[in-house]
Amino acid sequence: MMEFIDLKQQYRRNKARIDARIQVVLEHGRFIMGPEVAELETRLADYAGVPHAVTCANGTDALQLSLMAAGVGPGDYVITTPYTFFATVEAIMMLGAVPLFSDVDPNSFNLCPERLEDTIRIQRGQMGSRLKAVIAVDIFGLPADYEAIEGVCNRAGLLLIEDAAQSFGAAQGQRRAGSFGDIATTSFFPAKPLGCYGDGGAVFTHSRELAETLRSLRVHGQGENKYRNVRVGMNSRLDSIQAAILLEKLAIFDAELEARQTVAKRYREQLPDGLQCQQVADGMQSAYAQFSVRARDGSRDQYVARLQSSRIPVQIYYPVPLHLQPALSQCGFTPGQFPVSEAIAEDVFSLPMHPYLDENSQHQIIAALK
Ligand SMILES: *Cc1c(COP(=O)(O)O)cnc(C)c1O
Repeated sequence: MMEFIDLKQQYRRNKARIDARIQVVLEHGRFIMGPEVAELETRLADYAGVPHAVTCANGTDALQLSLMAAGVGPGDYVITTPYTFFATVEAIMMLGAVPLFSDVDPNSFNLCPERLEDTIRIQRGQMGSRLKAVIAVDIFGLPADYEAIEGVCNRAGLLLIEDAAQSFGAAQGQRRAGSFGDIATTSFFPAKPLGCYGDGGAVFTHSRELAETLRSLRVHGQGENKYRNVRVGMNSRLDSIQAAILLEKLAIFDAELEARQTVAKRYREQLPDGLQCQQVADGMQSAYAQFSVRARDGSRDQYVARLQSSRIPVQIYYPVPLHLQPALSQCGFTPGQFPVSEAIAEDVFSLPMHPYLDENSQHQIIAALK
């Protein structure tokens, strides 16, 4: 049976090194904030090209910690994309802040910079200084257009957070995911491009001050020591075993990213014409958390049915845009407000994608779609 994301094969190939590294933690017994955590943070920061990486319990906490560190709180407004995983908006709402949306680009599926500038102008007029931040998401592993979005946010004086949960390893030009905006977050959920064997996450920043606040927030707002609390924080740490696993996975990560590019290239060359692949603009490199395509003219269900009848795993990310989620019903959004996101949610589906997907399996997938 074909896997959508083949974590078992990845483990089999790297079993000796991963097992040995876990064993070291079991022996030294420093399960929380052990030496692997500090080592991993240095490696992650180097990889992303930022001075500070602060690990935490998961990608959702990473977003919440970032907003907390930036001082976003009750009654503040934060703009994000309607086309993302629920966690992005959940972090905003958990803090009592109010989510606003700006529609995406029909080709990249990411925030459209021109539309974002319009959204900010309109919302600024109504919300004034309560409009605090923008969270851009790198959907399916493709960075949003930060060359444009950073300028838009700077001109508006808004904080920019990059939700790089799906894009660790991706790049725009010479800059890697995790280095964009004022703060960036990622997730090490097992199915993400860099995944651990449980939950995990990290926050990246260029600011030493924000990094210090984040380090305090993840341990109950601690001050000089554990029993002096200078702010109300969270319990959100990455444990040493997960850090150990991630250190070993980071060692093979570049080779895996390359393998993902090969798989993506084959899909792009061979998929039938009725399917529109997520467009990767010049200078962009996707981490291909997912390989997602749009089916034209309401044909998605037919494609999905063909894959299912050939026993090929398929997923629909994301069938409901955030503004239409039941949990946001009190916010007063209506269908038709973000038409591009709504159309993509109806058209898109995702094909098996992982570094170990062989050519034979891919031919089966492509044949089933044709
Ligand atoms: C997975 C994901 C998150 C949340 O990460 P967790 O580690 O599962 O909490 C946040 N944002 C996006 C876009 C994601 O895909």
